[in-house]
Amino acid sequence: MEQRTISAPDVGKVTLIGAGPGDPELLTLKAARALGAAEVVLIDDLVDRRCLVHARPGARIIEVGKRGGCKSTPQAFIERLMIRCARQGRTVARLKGGDPFVFGRGGEELQALRAAGMEVEVIPGITAGIGVPATLGIPVTHRNLARGVTFVTGHARDGAEPDWAALARTGTTLVIYMGLKRLGRIASSLMQAGMKRDTPACAIENGTLETQRQVIGTLADLATDVMDRGLDGPAIIVVGDVVRCAGIAGVVPVRRAA
Ligand code: SAH
Repeated sequence: MEQRTISAPDVGKVTLIGAGPGDPELLTLKAARALGAAEVVLIDDLVDRRCLVHARPGARIIEVGKRGGCKSTPQAFIERLMIRCARQGRTVARLKGGDPFVFGRGGEELQALRAAGMEVEVIPGITAGIGVPATLGIPVTHRNLARGVTFVTGHARDGAEPDWAALARTGTTLVIYMGLKRLGRIASSLMQAGMKRDTPACAIENGTLETQRQVIGTLADLATDVMDRGLDGPAIIVVGDVVRCAGIAGVVPVRRAA
């Protein structure tokens, strides 16, 4: 490997950490250890603050909001901040919701940090698209029901829509992140593409947290049911036969809110 001399001050390390879908107990042991070692922690607004019990006393905690494309800390600013702290020789932890590499911009941050010559470690987390359906006993794949799963975002910031018709044809479970606001359109597109109206579908809000709520039904009715129940928090939408497993005997839905 090429030898490189890094001039003083020492370059610190940045760890991109997945905090899991919500419940702070879903943080991994490795994540907790890395948090305890960090001098600076940048935390996303979707991450439950109880995760910070693992931070070391006196660590600098920086909140970097970034919800649904609205008022948020610009990505370039976050990247510059991490680089600056690490260049000061500090150990930096970047705590992100779910898994840092699933719709979390972790890939972009990794590239920016590497380009700046940083040492980067990535600690995966449980992504909402798997961990949240699991609270209801919904497996995203199942030998008899779904041979695969597709993770897709429903939030089209640049106006570009996922190819719902192509996704409908895959026959895989569809796990849709950031899709709640466009659920009506998404469901219509899937049905126009030939997906059956009675395809089981659900929306789960604030999954794994005490405030979790869900609506379970069919593709045709889900958008209306979601509106009736007033779901508006971060939500995962699952479309496919696996949704039939929700609440099957022996699986107790976790902290199902009234
Ligand atoms: N990196 C994250 C996803 C970030 S995008 C992960 O791997 O989970 C943010 C979207 O994730 C939300 O809009 C929502 O669709 C989903 N999400 C995150 N936390 C959630 C939760 N507790 N319950 C339901 N959906 C959640």
